[in-house]
Formats: sequence, C-alpha cells, structure tokens
Amino acid sequence: MKRKLLRYDYGECEICDSPLQERLINQDFWIRGELIVVKGVPAGVCPRCGEKVIKSDVGRWIVKLIENSERIAKAPRITVPTIRFEVEEVRT
Ligand SMILES: [Zn+2]
Repeated sequence: MKRKLLRYDYGECEICDSPLQERLINQDFWIRGELIVVKGVPAGVCPRCGEKVIKSDVGRWIVKLIENSERIAKAPRITVPTIRFEVEEVRT
C-alpha cells in the first residue's frame, strides 16, 4: 500500500525562511512512560535546518492513534539504546 502525501502548503520555515517540503517522518511520543513511534507522519520539513512542522489536523489524527491502547498493545516492539546523561569533569 502506497501512502499518499497530503499536499499541504506548509509555507516557509520560521527559522530560516526556506520553503518547507512535505515528507513522511517518524515521530516519537512518550505516553504514560512508554515510548511510542508513529511512522509515516506527513510533515513539512525544512531542507536547510531540519525544522519540522506538523499540521493541526495531522496532530489530531496522531492523538487518536496513540489513544488507541488496543492498537498500541498489538503494535510491534523495537528496542532502543538508552544511555544516562553523564558529564565527566574535564580539567585543563
Ligand atoms: Zn529552516
């Protein structure tokens, strides 16, 4: 199944004024302590600085998707590396 882009007009990047291009991205969310990745989210992406814009309609659909706990329970799991933030004191 081929997913169609939504062809929204995303306008220009708020940071660097480049025209945003529509891409399908993977967006991650923390829901009740669980990391959930939504794949293939249509978003406006800045080719210059990487800024991402998600339309409010798309945002609402994402909320519906991630509220569906049955769907999430059946979703495939991936493992991700987790590291703890640590700063080593550097003396010169
Ligand atoms: Zn930009």
